[in-house]
Amino acid sequence: MSSRLKAAASVAALALLATPVAASAGSTAGPSVASTAATAAQAAADVKGWPQQNVLPVWPDNPNDASIPIGVTPYDEIAPKLNALQAQSNRVSVRVAGKSSGGRDLYVATVTWPETDAEAAQQEAWKDKIEDDPVAARTDAALLAGYKTPLFVNGNIHGNEWEGTDAILRVIDKWAKSTDSAVETLLKRNRITFNVTSNPDGRVLGTRPNEAGYDLNRDLTIVSQPESRLIRDLTVQTQSLFLLDLHGYVTPTLLWPSTPPHNPNNDYDLYIKHGLPAAIQMEQGLKDLGYPETQSARIPFRDDEVGVWDDYPPIYVPSFALYQGTIPYTIEAPLNPRGTNLSLEERKRRSGINTDVHEVAINKALAYMQTNRDQLIFDQAELFRRGWAGEPTRDIPDSFVPGWGPEDNYKTQFPRAYVIPAGAGQRSAAAAKRLVDLIVESNGRVTQAKAAFTAGGKSYAAGSYVIDMHQPLRGLVNTLLEPGLDITDRVDDLYAGPAGWSHGLTWGATVDTLQSEFPGVATERVFAGAVTSVVPTGNTDLVLDPRDAEDVLAINALLGQGIKLTRLADGSVLIPASARAAALTEAQTRGLTLTTAPASWSGSTIADKVVVAYVGGSEVRDVLKAIGFEAKAVTATTLTTALTADVDVLVVGGTLNPATLNAANKAVYDAFLARGGGIVGLGTAGSAHTTNAGLLTATGTAGNSLTSGVANVVNHGGPIVNNAQPHAWIFQPAWYTNLGPNAVVEQSFATEPLLAGWWPKTGTQGRPAAAGKATVVRAESAAGNGVVLIGTSVVTRLHAKGLNATFGRAILFAAAAKNTAASTSTGGTVGGSVPATLSLTLGSPASFGTFKPGVPAEYTATTDATVISTAGDATLSVTDPSTTNTGFLVNGAFKLAQPLQGLGVVKTWTGPTSNEKVPVTFKQVIGEKDPLRTGSYSKTLTFTLSTTTP
Ligand SMILES: [Zn+2]
Repeated sequence: MSSRLKAAASVAALALLATPVAASAGSTAGPSVASTAATAAQAAADVKGWPQQNVLPVWPDNPNDASIPIGVTPYDEIAPKLNALQAQSNRVSVRVAGKSSGGRDLYVATVTWPETDAEAAQQEAWKDKIEDDPVAARTDAALLAGYKTPLFVNGNIHGNEWEGTDAILRVIDKWAKSTDSAVETLLKRNRITFNVTSNPDGRVLGTRPNEAGYDLNRDLTIVSQPESRLIRDLTVQTQSLFLLDLHGYVTPTLLWPSTPPHNPNNDYDLYIKHGLPAAIQMEQGLKDLGYPETQSARIPFRDDEVGVWDDYPPIYVPSFALYQGTIPYTIEAPLNPRGTNLSLEERKRRSGINTDVHEVAINKALAYMQTNRDQLIFDQAELFRRGWAGEPTRDIPDSFVPGWGPEDNYKTQFPRAYVIPAGAGQRSAAAAKRLVDLIVESNGRVTQAKAAFTAGGKSYAAGSYVIDMHQPLRGLVNTLLEPGLDITDRVDDLYAGPAGWSHGLTWGATVDTLQSEFPGVATERVFAGAVTSVVPTGNTDLVLDPRDAEDVLAINALLGQGIKLTRLADGSVLIPASARAAALTEAQTRGLTLTTAPASWSGSTIADKVVVAYVGGSEVRDVLKAIGFEAKAVTATTLTTALTADVDVLVVGGTLNPATLNAANKAVYDAFLARGGGIVGLGTAGSAHTTNAGLLTATGTAGNSLTSGVANVVNHGGPIVNNAQPHAWIFQPAWYTNLGPNAVVEQSFATEPLLAGWWPKTGTQGRPAAAGKATVVRAESAAGNGVVLIGTSVVTRLHAKGLNATFGRAILFAAAAKNTAASTSTGGTVGGSVPATLSLTLGSPASFGTFKPGVPAEYTATTDATVISTAGDATLSVTDPSTTNTGFLVNGAFKLAQPLQGLGVVKTWTGPTSNEKVPVTFKQVIGEKDPLRTGSYSKTLTFTLSTTTP
């Protein structure tokens, strides 16, 4: 605050070549719509009886399997064991149900008494009846007598929590061979599905996540991994009465139910009435084991403070299963067998006890299911009945079960319907399809309108998705689509977060809520989202505005085919008419909306495939992959080998300080910048990097570690955020202050930054500190490098699909600087024997010099434009293309009080001209009381030379 108090103003002018206007041609071409019909649901006709045996491929012996020093079953021994059990027993059926991210087989075992095809079909019909016609199902005597109540056991989801698998193998072994009539009865009355090891990568490698680096127990509503996809599908398909997710290690053994906060979309009364007593029976079973270490259990609902071990987000296996009518459990076995200071004997003793603990949980769950069978079926049907009836969740009275109190009651309001628009009302058809697919695969029901309709005062096109909230899993659908709650005042802790996730607001699709109205239109149930594309006919250039991962994928695919694209000033991408065939294929495959290019445009050519290097983990890697960029991992010590000459953009999502690089790495880094490389920085690591590199000064501040949910943001326009939504997903977000003079703020947090989730209302990391602060900043460095900072959570857990396009646009912006030298434009479709020429070259950027605050003055800035035109007439005009503060110079979020003068038509011609230098003058008035903010006021203007008679 002293010598730095001066204002510099400049008008950045874009060099451009204007395309001659084909004034004729009422070429308002109608869109062509391609649509893939939704596939029908699986036919129920071909249900097979049990057993359904398959010989599992055997994996080679692996002496490095991390299971071995724990004393549990190595992965390669699982298939032989299951094969042998199948061979010995017609009660056991196994299959390879998928592959892990690391390519290992996922084994699903079903254990039940043999069934004929007809009996199995009857079981499926009863299962469907409970969901589809719950009132009739629960008085169906044949069903109540004959339904084999399902149990789903998920083993080893965390790879280095091994013993669930061993307990599963043990009980299968016992049930396969037992001659005990109680076992026969058990298997005649139940069908038990085992995901034997849901994380074989982690089992072998001794890691919590899978080989791709993901905690599968955070992924049930994102389903980014093949392993979590299988768990999700088994949860949906089995419609089990109980589900056990087998973990370790918490001392003493931890058993659900959980602490508040509870997700308000659960019919929690139907769950807790069974969940708590069954847990207490499991605890008794653990005592009966007789080990000193199993004489008590920890039931968070009973034993812990609010927020310590909650079931709030539906990302966990059990919290997702709660919506499916299941009584789910996390079971944390008590004795950690890891650690090199333990003897092998001690590790085996511990893993042995843990295996016993899981076996008890399985047996106690089945015992509870036997004893309470009718009530459990009734209550599962009751959940679906309430859903069909559209009933609100119940107010649960204090002491409904011991310990239930006001802190446990969470409420939401179910709307009557959601509409996911098709056509012009939908910002991204690809995002809409993704969301519909997720809802359907999660067992929600979606229909499509057969005709256009009006609802909530809004018109919807035929094909719009209508989600009737009178449906059996209304809780599941609502937790995916509703905004969520601000729970900051109710809890001060969460097990792992996030506290808000709304797919309706953060996955990129337009989703409308109809609170009480149900659309009066004929609909048809669909089982997948439709791929719809819009491509204008004619032979014009096309524009693709990236709003979804599919759009960015298409851009990268076209670049990969050698097609040169142009990034326009607003961040959209121009595809030349010569590439229409390729564009059409991309559009029809991915569900894109293309528009006709404007008559004149300016932009930077993207001459070839954009190559990205990144500092960061698997999440950065996989989002780059999801949007189609070729990506290379780099670290501070590998720049010499990884930051190769083909890299256009460096994404910094982890620590990388140019000041501390060794000489060789620093030289490679400097060379990258010298050839125009761009930087996209994420979070506070990103701003630390751009500041240290002298590219863009910014102070990054992160929210408290559990700050998470749906944020309110304000988009100020610009190539990164044009057409972005006013919400963003955050999980410990960052915001940027003390911005350097080259910073242009494209997005900031709203005055109230949190819509739903958890974020303290005080403190330097709290909401007031973030209110109004920048979340997306772009800049051009002094040397012309494109730089972007993003503070919202574009990569975290791969959740926020709606932010993929923001990330992609940032990379394209950063890449464009390098490619500006190759900038060109197409000549359009002008014919004739004399080539039409319309060319415009700009002189040096206009600058007003320094504005003096408090001194009334009129400042003048001039530049010139050199014009060549062979046209019969021509107009040179200058416009401000920005969508915010149009016509005013801006300095971040601040604009000048008086408008910029000099915009509009500069000169017109009625005949051709060659190499004519046209002066362009701008004026800016500063009043005596006009506030001036430290830094640089500027605007990027568009100069257009156009003609109606080329
Ligand atoms: Zn675990």
